[in-house]
Amino acid sequence: MLGAPGVGKGTQGRRLAAMHGCSLISTGEILREAAARGTPLGLEARRQMDSGRLVDDDVMIGLVRERTLEPDARDGFVLDGFPRTVPQAVALDAMLAERGQRIEVVLYLEASEDELVRRLQGRRECPVCKRAYNPEGTPARDGSHCDDHPAVELRLRQDDSEEAVRQRFAEFRAKTAPLVDYYTVTGRLRPVTGMGTVDGVFETLRRETGFGSRTPQTN
Ligand code: AMP
Repeated sequence: MLGAPGVGKGTQGRRLAAMHGCSLISTGEILREAAARGTPLGLEARRQMDSGRLVDDDVMIGLVRERTLEPDARDGFVLDGFPRTVPQAVALDAMLAERGQRIEVVLYLEASEDELVRRLQGRRECPVCKRAYNPEGTPARDGSHCDDHPAVELRLRQDDSEEAVRQRFAEFRAKTAPLVDYYTVTGRLRPVTGMGTVDGVFETLRRETGFGSRTPQTN
């Protein structure tokens, strides 16, 4: 899943992974969990994340190399938030080629920056299951607690503060947007509109990729 902050990579990626019965690998979520556990990697990453900056390529590539070797990733996976730079994309192609795997399709979710800033300002997450809510598209049933963890109050993600959001968009434009060219020339990019309702975007995504008619991948 490729796209600017707040465009719905996690939300749509979660649905796609569930539809295919495969794992969603979200690098942002892995880093936030590591930070919450207080591991050296997590504490180092937290400083970068909270300021809206990308974590170093070497750290991220090592992390994804290990995560994609876990048993639940053997039969395929949906990547959310990785790669985010051209060196990460090159390393990903090389590591998968060594294993006889490859990135089949890159879903590029597009939306205007104005719309995304508005969404991020309203976004809240469940600190337990990390599910994202938004009053407009994906509201929590009671407005302030997780549907699946009713005792848990939703909270603002640290990096959704106004200053961090500005920095995240700057990082996206400078380092991640070049991936559009990288995946276009290798014939894997599928641009999909990220505007509209969550269900509407998912339908477009299935239609335009043909995912709805495919059986889950087995190799
Ligand atoms: P996300 O949840 O995908 O928005 O990621 C939150 C933050 O984690 C980003 O703003 C980065 O600081 C860090 N991060 C996640 N994935 C990557 C990546 N592939 N490369 C560098 N930093 C990342």
